[in-house]
This record gives sequence, C-alpha cells and structure tokens, in this order.
Amino acid sequence: MKLLKERILQDGKCYEGGILKVDSFINHQLDPTLMKAIGIEFVRRFAATNVNKIITIEASGIAPAIMTGYLMDLPVIFAKKRRPNTMKNYLSATVHSFTKDRDYEIVISSEFISSEDNVLFIDDFLAYGNAALGIHSLVEQAGANLVGMGFIIEKEFQNGRMLLESKGIKVESLAIIESLSNQQIKIK
Ligand code: 5GP
Repeated sequence: MKLLKERILQDGKCYEGGILKVDSFINHQLDPTLMKAIGIEFVRRFAATNVNKIITIEASGIAPAIMTGYLMDLPVIFAKKRRPNTMKNYLSATVHSFTKDRDYEIVISSEFISSEDNVLFIDDFLAYGNAALGIHSLVEQAGANLVGMGFIIEKEFQNGRMLLESKGIKVESLAIIESLSNQQIKIK
C-alpha cells in the first residue's frame, strides 16, 4: 500500500530493539484519512472470505478494526487487557509483549463470540506473533473459525508470519518492514 509505505518512511522512527514508532499517525495521534484507506485495503484483501465479525486487541487495533468493520458493515469486538468485574463468562489467553517485556492476559466475553462466527483479526503490528497467537487461542476456545489476520505493519525480521502460517492462518500485511538496522527503515 503505497500511501502507507510513504508515510512510514516520512514519519516513522526507529528505536532500539527493532521497534518502529508511528505515533504521529497510528499509535497516538491518528490520521483518519489514512486509516480509512487502510480499512479499504483490508476489505479488498479479505473480500473473498465469509467473515461475519472483526476481532482486535485494545488499544491500537481498534482504529483499523472499526474502519474495516464499518466498511464491511460487521460488528467489531476488541479483546480487553483488563477483565471488568462484571464480566463473568469469558475466554482468556496469556500474551507476551516484547515491547513492554511482560506477560498480560487478554479476555473477551463469551457473549460476543461463538462457534457460529467466522472471525477476521485486525491489528496494528505483526512482530513475533504473540498477540496474534493469543487471539488464535481465544477463537479456538470459542469454537469459531478464523478466516485470516490483517496487519497494518509487519516486521518481517521478527518472523511472526512464519509462526502464524505454520498454523494454517492466512496473513495479510499492508506494509512489510525488512529491516530497522542502523536507524534506517527498509520497506519491501
Ligand atoms: P507481537 O505480539 O506480534 O510480537 O507484537 C504485536 C503487538 O506488539 C502489536 O499489537 C503492537 O501493539 C506491539 N508492537 C510490536 N512491535 C511494535 C513496534 O515496532 N512498534 C509499535 N508501536 N508497536 C509494536
């Protein structure tokens, strides 16, 4: 996706440990026009699936997921990183965050996912694939079908795609980063 790649090269910043900061248009300040174009591209890539529900993780996945859900006219559910006391029936999985170097739980209410669902996961980044694996586990626990996973940015050198594809998951990324070495963003 040309527009996205140009924006990453223009405004993205490299940090130690293979982290890309895109705070001025994806992770903190948001660019709705770019986000709309991202939604349109996800719709195009997953149009041939029988998706009936979009799933994401709070917080940064919500913007691209809601754009995609809006354009497909489908409900969007986000996995929460903290379980509300009022949530009694839920599914949970443990995810390791490499950016924060800690484990956290993700939960979704059993009310909003069932074996009838064909779910598409949308998120901002694919790095090692840990968040995606957590979602894969929630979808499996619900007995639902995972139609695919769409990421705005994939960091190819962290190999998350290999892990997901080895589980038979269809993976689509709108921008693939080959390397962030020497403070230089190299995009495929
Ligand atoms: P993974 O679970 O695939 O290792 O990492 C995915 C999650 O970690 C994403 O949901 C994203 O929030 C965060 N993340 C991973 N790498 C980066 C990065 O380079 N920059 C930012 N801003 N977030 C990242």
